[in-house]
Amino acid sequence: MRWSQSFLVTLREVPGDAEVVSHQLLYRAGLIHKLAAGIYSFTPFGFRSLRKMIDIVREEMDATGAMEVDLPILQPKELWVESGRWQRYVDDGILFHLEDRKGGEFALAPTAEEAVTDMVRRSVTSWRQLPFNLYQIRTKFRDEIRPRFGLLRGREFLMKDAYSFDVDEKGLDVHYRKMDAAYRRIFERCNLEYALVEADSGAIGGSASQEFMVVADTGEDALVFSDAGDYGANVEKAVTAPLPEPWAGEEPRSFGEANAPTPGITTTEGQAKHLGTTPERIVNTMIYEAVGADGKAWLAAVLIRGDLAINEVKLPKAIGALHVKLASEEILGKVTGTRPGFVGPLGLLPFEENPISLFVDRSLEHGANLWCGANLEGLHHSGVSIPRDVLSLPYFKGVVEVATAREGDPSPTGKGTLRIRRGIEVGHIFKLGTKYSEAMKCEVANQAQKMVPLTMGCYGLGLGRTVAAAIEQNHDDVGIIWPVPLAPFACVVAVLQRDAHVLEAADRLYEGLKAAGVEVFYDDRDERPGVKFKDLDLVGFPVRVVVGGKGLQRGVVEVSTRRERKAAEIAPDRVVELVKKTLAAGAKTLVTD
Ligand code: ATP
Ligand code: MG
Repeated sequence: MRWSQSFLVTLREVPGDAEVVSHQLLYRAGLIHKLAAGIYSFTPFGFRSLRKMIDIVREEMDATGAMEVDLPILQPKELWVESGRWQRYVDDGILFHLEDRKGGEFALAPTAEEAVTDMVRRSVTSWRQLPFNLYQIRTKFRDEIRPRFGLLRGREFLMKDAYSFDVDEKGLDVHYRKMDAAYRRIFERCNLEYALVEADSGAIGGSASQEFMVVADTGEDALVFSDAGDYGANVEKAVTAPLPEPWAGEEPRSFGEANAPTPGITTTEGQAKHLGTTPERIVNTMIYEAVGADGKAWLAAVLIRGDLAINEVKLPKAIGALHVKLASEEILGKVTGTRPGFVGPLGLLPFEENPISLFVDRSLEHGANLWCGANLEGLHHSGVSIPRDVLSLPYFKGVVEVATAREGDPSPTGKGTLRIRRGIEVGHIFKLGTKYSEAMKCEVANQAQKMVPLTMGCYGLGLGRTVAAAIEQNHDDVGIIWPVPLAPFACVVAVLQRDAHVLEAADRLYEGLKAAGVEVFYDDRDERPGVKFKDLDLVGFPVRVVVGGKGLQRGVVEVSTRRERKAAEIAPDRVVELVKKTLAAGAKTLVTD
């Protein structure tokens, strides 16, 4: 492919909305084009990278025995009502949906559990037809609240989604392990540095779930790792070993009713300072509106140590709710009689018909000599003992573990200290269990001739997001440093002048490389060398061959890798072999021997 005959347009400016480097570089290198917020076109060059990603994913999925399918993106509402997802996705605002001319409602698929389950339930009747794993590589639609970061969070994006079907949990385990291994190979083939973390699997369904994360400072996920190397989890899911208790060994003082004034001070730090203590000794009481699996609403009061924060992803499952949200100030006022800052666990009232349940975070279970809000403006109780004064309340329901893990906390494995890093979720494997098969009656007769819902797994992988993550991990000040397997072209030949003998030598090299099976691009433009070098660095060809008149007089051309940017003078007849060897070794450095 010659530049003079191709559609590759690099740009100098960075678009205003490009906050992260992969977005800036994909745009400036002319690989993507924004059509609307979160909606991108791939140019021919960008699509070559995406295609490589598609090929890698397809090869590795096929190698596991999974079978490719093609499921509709436009899906009828009825199917989504059956699975129970329609209303929740509409309420969340994530679902793109529309009406047809007859008033029928449809969704643009954000994933395809319903569509695949519908196909399977109509075709399979016996355990003998199992197991199998069906996958597709297709566009997904999600009306993300904040579409941003270019390909990292789009509203229309390419996902590989796979769905495994087994007669029991044991079969699912086999599929899950196969997918785990395939994902490792995929990200290794992309030369990505990645980490596996335990992930939250939501309030309903799903027993195990892991995310594949590309570690990068710009990642939207916070990841918790033990420095002993034996634990990794998304912060949404992470737990810690029990924290040291500052009150250990202390004699509990007597309860001091509303005898600690905290006038107008609503922050934990402010109150601790005013009371002459530390935030660990201040009990924060958070009131949540919860909805149970039965659809009933209730209220939850959750007690947490003042130096910790409640993890609202972990919370619903821990307290047995489907979802929770912080109570409005109005409800809070009715339940407690006061405003945030002075709320406490004693004397809470139910709101209308909604009962109230009290939960205590594990960090406070043995707490003594604490302060908590007195449910009176500007006042706290002192000398609070959790076992004596709180665990005995009639609406106390349980000790739960809902604190957000912090840098420096002890690892739950008992070894090491937790460290927090940022990551980009590129893949997610998930044991769904029977959530969809039960809701949608996707059943077969098992060996004992009993009808059972199929046991499912689902496995997602973002292709555009992975390409962008590769750039987040591989770039420098001047442009992209493509991992060879994802580069639009592995090599570029560029001429410094369009003199006949230079073009002739470059043509020969270009043809020679092509004949040797190297994916080579040819910068034959009539541009100043400075302009060309800038472009070639920006687009990030792993290996570059520069042909100029002066070099040819001495019988050499210049070859360099993008990563090192150090040119070596090489005789033209050695170039093909050298380029091939260098590419085979990952193009980190020139392989000259
Ligand atoms: P996130 O938490 O980042 O929103 P998710 O957990 O909702 O992602 P999944 O439903 O697990 O995503 O989707 C599977 C994969 O699809 C993700 O691991 C990711 O690689 C990709 N993906 C999800 N949402 C987007 C998006 N908006 N843009 C690009 N890729 C996405
Ligand atoms: Mg996910």
